[in-house]
Amino acid sequence: MAFLDIKNLEKVFGQNRVVKDFNLAIEKGEFISLLGPSGCGKTTVLRMVAGFETSSSGAILIDGKDVVSKRPNQRNIGMVFQAYALFPNLTVAQNVGFGLKVKGIAGSEADNRVAEMLKLIGLPDLGNRYPFQLSGGQQQRVALARALAPKPQVLLLDEPLSALDAKIRVSLREEIRMIQQQLGITTVFVTHDQEEALSISDRIVVMNGGRADQIGTPFDIYNRPSTRFVASFVGTLNLIEAKVIDPAANRISIGDQAITLKEPLGAAKVGDTISLALRPEAGSIVEGANGDTALVGQVMTSNFLGSVIRTRMKVGTAVISFDMFNSPGLTPPSVGETVTLRFTASDLLIIRE
Ligand code: ATP
Repeated sequence: MAFLDIKNLEKVFGQNRVVKDFNLAIEKGEFISLLGPSGCGKTTVLRMVAGFETSSSGAILIDGKDVVSKRPNQRNIGMVFQAYALFPNLTVAQNVGFGLKVKGIAGSEADNRVAEMLKLIGLPDLGNRYPFQLSGGQQQRVALARALAPKPQVLLLDEPLSALDAKIRVSLREEIRMIQQQLGITTVFVTHDQEEALSISDRIVVMNGGRADQIGTPFDIYNRPSTRFVASFVGTLNLIEAKVIDPAANRISIGDQAITLKEPLGAAKVGDTISLALRPEAGSIVEGANGDTALVGQVMTSNFLGSVIRTRMKVGTAVISFDMFNSPGLTPPSVGETVTLRFTASDLLIIRE
């Protein structure tokens, strides 16, 4: 049975249904990210799990018990917010010990637990400092220690990294993942940053307009997006219009070039327009190759991005971006040049929804 089980959860603000029939079963020790654009309802789901927001309908079970009617402090949940939200007038140690005090844990048991938490977050010597004497990254680690100190059953993280600069964000997310795995704590993490979600999660829930569009491992979400929305929200993607020329043989055309798809075309008929997805990193430029899994086009732009050179080419009316991995010996294609982009047939995904 799932450890955190969210069933048919709904939230209505006035006339606005912002969370719709949301279902999610999370195993004990799993790290789940809620990923989606601003306003898709991810924070609202998290706040309903925490008890800061009431649900309009549905159930939230933690270890088999419905917590919907319980107040936040009765739910045994730890939460970290985007803004560090530390108590400015308390020291680091007092901040970390705050939840213990609330629970009536004091004396050496509390002191030991605070010391253990400060060690866990890599700040064993900063217990006597005040929040204003810490960097943003350190403050967020203290917020994490404070959330974890009372040994919650579930950890909720609401965009905890978004106020930090890029380098700290990457190192802290790795640290959060290590700590989460070390403690084996069931965790729900809210983010609008797809790279963050892909790098840190066991599974990702991609949310769109209050619903879960797709739930899957980072690998599945990236490689097998089930909807147009997921395909375009996660990663950079070419969405290419193609015409069906022979459904039985999976033959389609892009511009005037025919290609055989790996995936069956299903009920499509001759002349139908379908949408195909192709990641920029899937293709490579080859000299003069031709065949079923190649497209010939004219280079429109070529941008040096450091590790890759992203090039856009025109194939009929379609514009396709592809990446060439940088190396000192590489000569990037020039604008106007005719190039052949080669890929495997299975890299072209049919987007059906
Ligand atoms: P963000 O990343 O911007 O925080 P989000 O995906 O977390 O976005 P929510 O904060 O959950 O989105 O908001 C979902 C929708 O609910 C939005 O349209 C928002 O305006 C609305 N909403 C949130 N809280 C309230 C409220 N207290 N009263 C009315 N509407 C609200």
